[in-house]
Amino acid sequence: MDFALSPDHELLRRTVRDFAEQEVAPVAEALDREKRFPYEIVAKMGELGWMGIPFPEEVGGAGGDTLAYALAVEELTRVDSSVAITMCAHTSLGTQPIHQFGSPEQRERLLPDLCAGRRLGAFGLTEPEAGSDAGNTRTRASLQDGEWVVNGTKQFITNAGTEISGHVAITAVTGSDERGRPEISNLIVENGTPGYEPGEPYRKMGWNASDTRPLTFSDCRVPQDSLLGPRGAGFRQFLRILDGGRIGVAAMGVGLAQGALDEALAYAQERRAFGRPISKFQAIQAKLADLSSEIEAARLLTYKAAWLKDRGRDFTLTAAQAKLKTGRLAVRASEEAVQIHGGYGYIEEYPVCRFYRDAKILTIGEGTDEVQQMVIARALGA
Ligand SMILES: Cc1cc2nc3c(=O)[nH]c(=O)nc-3n(C[C@H](O)[C@H](O)[C@H](O)COP(=O)(O)OP(=O)(O)OC[C@H]3O[C@@H](n4cnc5c(N)ncnc54)[C@H](O)[C@@H]3O)c2cc1C
Repeated sequence: MDFALSPDHELLRRTVRDFAEQEVAPVAEALDREKRFPYEIVAKMGELGWMGIPFPEEVGGAGGDTLAYALAVEELTRVDSSVAITMCAHTSLGTQPIHQFGSPEQRERLLPDLCAGRRLGAFGLTEPEAGSDAGNTRTRASLQDGEWVVNGTKQFITNAGTEISGHVAITAVTGSDERGRPEISNLIVENGTPGYEPGEPYRKMGWNASDTRPLTFSDCRVPQDSLLGPRGAGFRQFLRILDGGRIGVAAMGVGLAQGALDEALAYAQERRAFGRPISKFQAIQAKLADLSSEIEAARLLTYKAAWLKDRGRDFTLTAAQAKLKTGRLAVRASEEAVQIHGGYGYIEEYPVCRFYRDAKILTIGEGTDEVQQMVIARALGA
């Protein structure tokens, strides 16, 4: 076994860390407070090739692997979750379906702008009555005069309502199979299509600078060739997309936990009580030591999931384990970091306050903890 990162991976990690510290950290608090989408940062990341890390160079991607992508997500989240989820949802959820299931024409038309960050991709799976039970999709698409006519509502969709949003890949019921069960297909709906309306952004607990909205489709007509892959393949496709997406979200958990630990350690070394830095108290040291050990374990699990995917091996179990482990760890690490900051941790000037609000979604989004437990138990044969 070799735990060392390759020189290319190490260089990417260092470059993204420098970018996050120099370009993102100084504005993260203001973006969060003003709930402002980070257009300038996304544009810079696009120029650097980071909006298309795991996609081939022929389509405008950086030609990196899943591990490279995970490292970049981790380093961004160490500083700011809103910027990280914008890149992460765009890559794992918005662009991957086009890359994995798109026709040559769809790939050629959409991937270059997506990989360059000129356009953002979104993935519309969740609905008011279809979250964990994602197969319960109510959105319908029927073929009329050579076009799909889409009607329905999507809930909590990331990246769909910005000025640079390009498309959303949605699940819709397109008929029923021979046993009368709903036939689910994926369709690409481009922004600006009449009848497709992103709603007002939600008021969220965290991820304030990222874009999350409900979407409505009212007699929205899209060309027949907007279908992504074969008709009826939608269920299988979104399970595959979510499997891969979990590696990105797990990397977010590792990054957030590491950021919380780094902030807590620096603060503990500065803050004095009873005549010495609080880092000299065993109770504080125990928290820091526990977090550092758990973060390292969670990081290795996440990298293993990426490693398996990059080798074409089955990664479903490991990705679900990594997502479960890292989401909980991010929540705990941010809470301990606030605790170590005392009253200052409750004040927004300190990044750990934002980390605490940003962490909770990591146990919910892209499959709740309970859903990960179901996936893991199924893989164990339970
Ligand atoms: C900020 C944000 C961004 C998001 N971005 C996107 C996006 O880009 N695209 C997208 O499609 N979705 C997105 N989502 C939706 C997210 O993936 C869902 O919220 C999540 O999957 C949970 O679905 P739900 O909210 O309907 O909860 P529910 O499924 O209603 O779950 C409620 C509770 O019941 C539990 N539960 C449900 N079924 C079971 C069961 N069988 N056994 C045990 N417990 C169970 C759940 O674990 C949870 O605790 C986003 C959500 C948020 C908040």
